[in-house]
Amino acid sequence: MKITFVSLFGELIQPYFEESILKRGMQRGLFEIEFLNPRDYTINKHRKTDDTVTGGGAGMVFSPQPLFDALDALKSASNEVKIIFLAPSAKRFNAKDAKRLAAFEHIALVCGRYEGFDERAVECFADELFSIGDFVLTGGELPALAVADAALRFVPGVLGSGESLAEESFEEDLLESPVWTKPAIFRGLKTPSTLLNGNHKEVAKLRKTLAAFKTAFFRPDLLSKS
Ligand code: SAM
Repeated sequence: MKITFVSLFGELIQPYFEESILKRGMQRGLFEIEFLNPRDYTINKHRKTDDTVTGGGAGMVFSPQPLFDALDALKSASNEVKIIFLAPSAKRFNAKDAKRLAAFEHIALVCGRYEGFDERAVECFADELFSIGDFVLTGGELPALAVADAALRFVPGVLGSGESLAEESFEEDLLESPVWTKPAIFRGLKTPSTLLNGNHKEVAKLRKTLAAFKTAFFRPDLLSKS
């Protein structure tokens, strides 16, 4: 899988891939990333990538020209690229989307800035749009990283053998059961004894019950889906 981050601030994104699981996955050739900066395509003599809001209003808008030229270049270099725009007004990104994206050869995550994209860029290039929640960030770089990280976890081999996707939250519309580690008693607080008794059937049953309780408490909306 290849991910192209289309961003004015690729240097905010790059360090995330220099540590831990994603660094190892990249080193093992399981995926690659690249950066495309629309500013490199601007024909404005001051290298501007924004302009005032048509019709008036506060703030600036991401100009169409640098974005159109950058995305035209991307599409002529890659036939199969799927272009995804990040926008707070879009459909909420979820685990099913992450799994689906992981199956694509090449995705591009287009990060907005200012008051957002000129709508014509969205109309002409967006295969999909995602929001990561009902709040507004200053730019699309964090949302793009969230989408990339969540999708890359589903790329075979990225997670080590010790980490299982099967019991993660949102699989089968459930949250994951709470988890504990050693020591069995910490500051007088005990781990559920069933988890220590070595009976795998009982452990699995308890985890299922706890997952159902946790989901009912925090996310009853998930239960009504299934
Ligand atoms: N004026 C826009 C609005 O009210 O919908 C918000 C623009 S925001 C300041 C700038 C950029 O950050 C957006 O174009 C988008 O790419 C990104 N962004 C901000 N919040 C986001 C969110 N919750 N999900 C996805 N992208 C977001």
